[in-house]
Amino acid sequence: MNRTIHNELEEIRSHGLFRSTRLISGRQSARVMLSGLEVLLLCSNNYLGLAGHPALAEASIRAIERYGVSSGASRLVSGTMELHEQLEQAVTSFKKSESALVFNSGHAANTGIIPALVGRGDAVYSDRLNHASIVDGIRLSGARLFRYGHNDHLQLAGLMDRHGSSHGRSLIVTDGIFSMDGDMAPLVELVALKRKHDALLMVDDAHGSGVMGRQGRGSAELSGVADGVDIRMGTFGKALGSFGAYAAVSAELRELLVNRSRSFIFSTSLPPAVLAASLAALELVQSPEGDALRERLHANAAFFRKALLETGFMVPEGTSQIIPIITGNSDVTMRFSGALLEEGIFAQGIRPPTVPAGSCRIRFTAMATHRINDLEQAVTVIGKVGSRLGVV
Ligand SMILES: *Cc1c(COP(=O)(O)O)cnc(C)c1O
Repeated sequence: MNRTIHNELEEIRSHGLFRSTRLISGRQSARVMLSGLEVLLLCSNNYLGLAGHPALAEASIRAIERYGVSSGASRLVSGTMELHEQLEQAVTSFKKSESALVFNSGHAANTGIIPALVGRGDAVYSDRLNHASIVDGIRLSGARLFRYGHNDHLQLAGLMDRHGSSHGRSLIVTDGIFSMDGDMAPLVELVALKRKHDALLMVDDAHGSGVMGRQGRGSAELSGVADGVDIRMGTFGKALGSFGAYAAVSAELRELLVNRSRSFIFSTSLPPAVLAASLAALELVQSPEGDALRERLHANAAFFRKALLETGFMVPEGTSQIIPIITGNSDVTMRFSGALLEEGIFAQGIRPPTVPAGSCRIRFTAMATHRINDLEQAVTVIGKVGSRLGVV
């Protein structure tokens, strides 16, 4: 064996791309214990603080007492329980769709849905900055891939004019809120293009669900084009504080996904505790408490974004709770996050392959549970470290 595991690890290290996990003790909240040290958490997707919310925890406990721990089988065998159907009903009413299907995770949804919709002879149009799980789904599908520049709907229009008619089925797929940049897809333009070319449109709203639009219905709702998006996919593991994913779709599309999505068919379905937490989360985000949490989240995000810009950082355009600062190469990025950690601020440096080479960044995320003076102090520290490393 010439290509040893050891050499491969050395190669990852030599490129400054080595990664490892970090242990958080206790419950997810605005401040957490990291390796015995209390730090301000600025890299969690628990945007509304629901991951530690008692309403979700109590719903989970009750579900375990009533239904036990596991579903015992995949959905099409004997693993469809009352809670699966209740959650799909709740998603249908939340998204005002005709129907909905629950998946085991966002990654499983994307790798299950895309190959169910397109294959050899079909075309997929994908934003260059789409999430890795979308990229994986496209690879699995075997459809012809056309990547367009980030949010560049004019380039997409050109690609579809040239190639649209030479494929059996066409799918446009995009993040709703981009996970590493925090900006929103031009959904109005994408809906117009999908109509013009008789294509399908899929929006992955992992970061918009529970956060964007009225009652947190997502970025398509915020853009006023919910009816124009064929597959509105979202996840339960981020703002909704639970785990799993959904696709809000037509009744026919749901039937197709049930019959064709391999990640749906060949995997044990979500357990009762998780389903019950997701149900409680959907109820909560549509309640006055949900409105209040969203208001705090948006206020915190706006404050933090403005303060980082005023400090002199390069922050990509956007209005969401995802607020990256561009730092350059992976070496300076990792020194940056290391220095922040020493000052009690936990934020991840993001490197290739998560983002394109040369656009390494520290990705900060605001949460409803942050206090303004915590964020204020954090910006002071981030500014100090930034000037020391020559990033400001
Ligand atoms: C997190 C994320 C996923 C994956 O969702 P999981 O439920 O964590 O597997 C998919 N798409 C986007 C845009 C994401 O940010």
